[in-house]
Amino acid sequence: MSNYVVGLTGGIGSGKTAASDFLASLGIDIVDADVVAREVVEPGSPCLTAIAEHFGERVIDAQGQLNRRALRDIVFNDNRAKEWLNQLLHPAIRARLLAQLQQADSPYVVLVAPLLLENQLQRYCNRVLVIDVPEALQLERTMQRDNSEQQQVEAIMASQLTREQRLQRADDIVHNDADLTHLQQQLTALDKRYRQLAKGS
Ligand code: ATP
Repeated sequence: MSNYVVGLTGGIGSGKTAASDFLASLGIDIVDADVVAREVVEPGSPCLTAIAEHFGERVIDAQGQLNRRALRDIVFNDNRAKEWLNQLLHPAIRARLLAQLQQADSPYVVLVAPLLLENQLQRYCNRVLVIDVPEALQLERTMQRDNSEQQQVEAIMASQLTREQRLQRADDIVHNDADLTHLQQQLTALDKRYRQLAKGS
């Protein structure tokens, strides 16, 4: 079991996946908050059953999966519905995240979450690692990856912490404004450091 948790965050398209894939290749276990958020509403899960009972079958698709768009449309203009959903999902996600962190058996474990700081997940972390990119590059890479419109990406960026707010909360910063080799070099150095810190914890 690994007790040392590194929280890895950054804005949309900053390179969290590129960074965590590389750390995984060094033998580090990764817990991904987005994956966990999907797992808690898988068919047959208590959360999905509760959601179907509360909102009706319109939020379940033909395959028995959560119809995210239908649910989003319902909660978009309904704060009570949104609050109900958050109170159901947040504790379930937190419990599953913590269980996965505890099951990790690499020298340290990385918790990847786009909204790590927004959702106060740093309280479960020994250190916060921020992947930093200039906004223009963040926009460019995300639009290219998702084939999405500038406005759409800017709206997501506006819903997240600003670059400065994120950097203020970082213990460590990786600059992802050059090629992948540059990113990986910084991570290799940090990996050594985290292994040392984890040994002493
Ligand atoms: P999201 O928050 O949307 O999940 P993310 O932070 O995980 O995004 P990535 O998907 O890792 O970001 O990176 C965004 C895009 O930029 C991807 O297409 C990725 O391949 C590319 N990318 C990441 N780092 C670099 C780099 N150093 N050089 C070139 N392209 C990069």
